[in-house]
Amino acid sequence: MQRTLISQAPQKIGQEVLLKGWVNARRDHGKITFIDLRDRTGIAQTVFVNSEKVKDIRREWVLEVVGAVKKRPEDMINPDIPTGKVEIEVKTLNILAVAEDTPFEIDSLGMEVNEELRLKYRYLDLRRPRLTRNLRMRHKIIKFIRDFLDKNDFVEIETPILTKATPEGARDFIVPSRLRPGNFYALPQSPQQYKQLLMVAGFEKYYQIARCFRDEDPRADRAYGEFTQLDIELSFPTREEILLLTEELYKSIIKKFFPEKKLTFDKFPHLSYDEVMKKYKTDKPDLRKDKNNPNELAFCFVVDFPLFEWKESENRWDSMHHPFTAPKEGAVPNLLAGKDIESLKALQYDFVLNGYEIGGGSIRITDPEIQTKIFEIMGHKKRDIEAKFGHLLEAFKYGVPPHGGIAPGIDRFLMIVFNEPSLREVIAFPTNSSGRTAVMDAPSDVDNQQLKELKLSVTKK
Ligand code: ASP
Repeated sequence: MQRTLISQAPQKIGQEVLLKGWVNARRDHGKITFIDLRDRTGIAQTVFVNSEKVKDIRREWVLEVVGAVKKRPEDMINPDIPTGKVEIEVKTLNILAVAEDTPFEIDSLGMEVNEELRLKYRYLDLRRPRLTRNLRMRHKIIKFIRDFLDKNDFVEIETPILTKATPEGARDFIVPSRLRPGNFYALPQSPQQYKQLLMVAGFEKYYQIARCFRDEDPRADRAYGEFTQLDIELSFPTREEILLLTEELYKSIIKKFFPEKKLTFDKFPHLSYDEVMKKYKTDKPDLRKDKNNPNELAFCFVVDFPLFEWKESENRWDSMHHPFTAPKEGAVPNLLAGKDIESLKALQYDFVLNGYEIGGGSIRITDPEIQTKIFEIMGHKKRDIEAKFGHLLEAFKYGVPPHGGIAPGIDRFLMIVFNEPSLREVIAFPTNSSGRTAVMDAPSDVDNQQLKELKLSVTKK
C-alpha cells in the first residue's frame, strides 16, 4: 500500500490509507484514544478503539497506521487544522520508533526555552512549526532568487572553500595543510577575488549562494563564523544597473512571499553617505515611516562611501569596503598622488533595510596601477602585494572587462522579513553566542595523530 501524505487525507473519504508520522498529541476518552499524527504536510486526528497497543504510545513516537478516512460529524469538526473535517479510524498500527520525552516543548514558539538547550537539541527545536516554516520559506526564497537570476542570464558557479585569504576586514579562519606542513589555507571571507577572476574568464554574469567565513565577534544581527550571501558579479555594468537589478529582485521577493508587507518607497532611494551621516548619524538609516509597524519595509541604497577609513588600532588606512573597490573618477589623481586620502570617494554602495545593512558592493578596480596604489596606502609592502594579490594583478593583464557586483546577506534579510529577533531563528544549525556549533559542539580537540600528520603541536596553558 502506498503512503498517503496527511494533507491529502481529506480527499480520500471512504478509502483506506497508510499514514506515517510522529505523535503530536494524544487524548484518552475511555475506550477511545485520539492520536494526532504529524508528517511534513500537516496533522490529522487518528482514532483507536479498544486498542491495547495504543496504551504505551507517547508524544513524538514514530508510527505507521492503516485506517479508513471518515467524515467527522458536524459538531466534531476542528476548524483550526486543514484536515479538521476528517479523522482516520485505525485498523492496524505499526510502531516504527519510540521516543523519550523531549527536553522542552516543541509546539510552542520556543522563545521561553533556554537557547543553549534549544541548540543542543536543535533537531527537536526544528520540529517547532515556527522554525519549520522559516526553513521551508528560506528554501523557497532561495529557489526564487536562483530562478530570477537564471532568467536574467546569470550562471551559478561554485568557488573554493579551501583557499587563500581575501580581505573583507575580518580575521580569517585557517586550515592547516597536511601535504605542505607549516602552510595553511584560509576559508573565504567572501568569493570576492574568484568572482572577479570569473569576469576575466568571460562569464559576464555570475552569482552564487555562497557561504562566507569570518572570525569576528558575534552580535545579535551577525552570526559567528559563517553566513550565507547572494554573491553577484557582472561585467560592463553601471552602478545604476546593479542597484536596479537588486531592487527588482527584492521587490519581486516581497511581492511573491510577503504580500502583507508594505514598501515605504516604491522606488528605493539612493542616498549619499555624506547626506545620511549628516542627517541620521549612521550609514544604515531606518527610514520606516512607522517604526512600530512590523510589516513596513524601508529599502534604500547608500552610495558614494569614502574609499578609506582610518584604523586607529593599527595606525593605518584601511579600505572602507574592500581593497578591490574602485575610486570615483574624480578621485583618481589625488589617489595616485596619495593626497587628501580621507576625502576620496568610492564607487561603493550599501543595501539597507529598516536600519540594517543587508548587503554591499562596488564597481571594481581593473587598473593595476590604481590597485597597487590602494594596497600601498593600506600599508602593504611591495613584496606582500605580489605574494597576496599577484594572481589578480596578473589576471588583469589578459583583457579584463570593467566589472562590479553586490552581495546581499541572506540570513539578515530573512531575519527582518520574518520578524525574528535573531539570525539563529533562520539558520538550521547556527553557532551559539560564544561560537560553539549547534548539536556537534565544535570547536573541539583533535587527536595527537592528526596533529602529528600536520606537524603541529598545541601549547596548553
Ligand atoms: N565581497 C563583498 C562582501 O562580501 C561584496 C561585494 O563587494 O560584492 O561584502
